[in-house]
Amino acid sequence: MPLQIVHHPDYDAGFATNHRFPMSKYPLLMEALRARGLAGPGALNTPEPAPAPWLKLAHAAAYVDQVLSCSVPEKIEREIGFPVDPRVSLRAQLATGGTVLAARLALRHGIACNTAGGSHHARRAQGAGFCTFNDVAVASLVLLAEGAAQKVLAVDVDVHQGDGTADILGDEPRVFTFSMHGERNYPTRKIASDLDIALPDGTGDAAYVERLDTILRDLSTRAHWDIVFYNAGVDVHAEDRLGRLALSDNGLRARDEMVIGHFRALGIPVCGVIGGGYSTDVPALAARHAILFEVASGYA
Ligand SMILES: [Zn+2]
Repeated sequence: MPLQIVHHPDYDAGFATNHRFPMSKYPLLMEALRARGLAGPGALNTPEPAPAPWLKLAHAAAYVDQVLSCSVPEKIEREIGFPVDPRVSLRAQLATGGTVLAARLALRHGIACNTAGGSHHARRAQGAGFCTFNDVAVASLVLLAEGAAQKVLAVDVDVHQGDGTADILGDEPRVFTFSMHGERNYPTRKIASDLDIALPDGTGDAAYVERLDTILRDLSTRAHWDIVFYNAGVDVHAEDRLGRLALSDNGLRARDEMVIGHFRALGIPVCGVIGGGYSTDVPALAARHAILFEVASGYA
């Protein structure tokens, strides 16, 4: 069976090509997956928009209603980084539904990936930092509510700290949040995860994967995880506009191999989400995001 990939064409909300958020990476990622033979028959799954009761497991009811009715206050829209119009609202609901679907597919097949998701700056009360709804927090709480999982691990190696995920899940003992990020990157005011590792600027491949290896071993001893959500943000890359950790393509691949290989060797399901990536060379950026799918397909 091919790697199960969750995708929806409306993940792309059609921003102008010069927008700070490189929206065109979503269709270009699909193009890259097709070119690599990863999006063939039996591979693609289409999500439904996440319904309000799911979203309200993680977010304040008032904020969910604002997003669904496209009436988010301007002050919050500024923190998110774009206005929440009907396309952005739908995209946020679909990306969240997509991570829930990918999580269910991972539980069934061992591994699955969403071509969106990893919106880790969205906090309980509001969105921020290009993130409207926190898909991983919602999916974790949906699985717990349904009894599909009892212990959830969130591994977040996007270059930015997972403040929103920590905010939402800080009081949830059944979810362990781990964030490894650049210490000088956004957000300036971090919200403590269960485990935070802050790395200095210019860390590079070797030091990065060495550190990660040690932490993964430690995480496996803490509990028997029913599922791992893996935020594989590629903004750790040397050519990323926002990241400062200076990883190469090989470093990205080694990182994804290390995380996915570690948990799959233990028989733990892995749900991959793409996380952040910011580059004016969007085809190159899409190719970086495709590495997650290339690596994951080796474990499908
Ligand atoms: Zn990021």
